[in-house]
Amino acid sequence: MHIETIAVHAGAEVDPATGAVAPPIHLSTTFEHGPASQPSHGHLYIRESNPTQSRLEDALAQLEGGELALAFASGMGAGTAVLQALTPGSHVILPDDVYVDFRTIRAEFLPRWGIDSTVVDMSNLAALKSALQPNTKLIWTETPSNPLIKITDLCAVAALAHDVGALVLTDNTFATPILQRPLELGGDIVLHSTTKYCGGHSDVQGGALVFRCNNGFAESVQHTRKVMGAAASPFNSWLVLRGLRSLACRVERHSANAFAVANAILPCARVEAVHYPGLANHPGHTIAAKQMKAFGGMMSFRVKGGWDEAVNVAARVKLFLNATSLGGPESLIEHRASSEGKDSITPKNLLRLSVGLEHPDDLIEDLLQALR
Ligand SMILES: *Cc1c(COP(=O)(O)O)cnc(C)c1O
Repeated sequence: MHIETIAVHAGAEVDPATGAVAPPIHLSTTFEHGPASQPSHGHLYIRESNPTQSRLEDALAQLEGGELALAFASGMGAGTAVLQALTPGSHVILPDDVYVDFRTIRAEFLPRWGIDSTVVDMSNLAALKSALQPNTKLIWTETPSNPLIKITDLCAVAALAHDVGALVLTDNTFATPILQRPLELGGDIVLHSTTKYCGGHSDVQGGALVFRCNNGFAESVQHTRKVMGAAASPFNSWLVLRGLRSLACRVERHSANAFAVANAILPCARVEAVHYPGLANHPGHTIAAKQMKAFGGMMSFRVKGGWDEAVNVAARVKLFLNATSLGGPESLIEHRASSEGKDSITPKNLLRLSVGLEHPDDLIEDLLQALR
């Protein structure tokens, strides 16, 4: 079945109790069980599992082609559960431009949990190879990455990882399962901040993991979620599930708009560089064309000059909103170095765009007047 069809139908079974076509939201925190606590309806307590969250998980597993999906309260909750499920003494390899709060987890928390880590440029396979250790258990990838929109060759990373028995996790938040299916490229775990494109309307926070195999490691991540408590709420699960229905259409439009915007600002005298994998001059273009169906709605560009020149452009836009996050219908612009704070390694003249669902001509007109 095609992914567009899966997005519409996965987890959308008609409610057997009422015939409702739109899924019900079950807010109950507890579920009737037998006198010796035997689960008689499949669920016991909301934090362990609940019907609305299970529907969302069913849909996400089908969309990514995995055996098990777990929904979380946030993307950070999801990624952290994977790291917490590793045994002390494990070694993980992370990309140098990993999502900023995972950089914080690495610096502040991995040492407390007894986990060693190395940071590499994931687009440099020789660097990755030389960072592998006998105790390397996990290679973390994020492609396209945030905010430099770098591309990682997922097939090549999976081959290196599996040689040493390590798992590969891919943060697929920017690409979504519509454009990139990491489990089919050899990956083991997919991470989403469903706060972004999956939810798609800037009104819900959530995260998810999808596992290629429902094996012992997946079970220990599920155990971590149950005990640590970062489960999704029923209402948030319902909103993400609702977002998934239109994901394929939205992502197609986001991608077409971003492609148009990237090409329109590229020749601007005030633009130093445009980072968008759909451009032929992007260093990851060939790999992106191989592993992605289209190039997505996220891009960034550098303004000639520094911090002030970039902030001045962000101050002059009228249609783009100055706001963080991404994946909603409205186009956003963000001076990433200011939002990431004092430890940011992002170039000071970089502006990140989440290209929304407006007409591309209006978006281009706005950016061109801001770049005058
Ligand atoms: C937003 C984001 C996260 C974190 O997700 P939250 O839902 O904000 O916790 C992780 N990875 C990427 C690529 C993101 O954009």
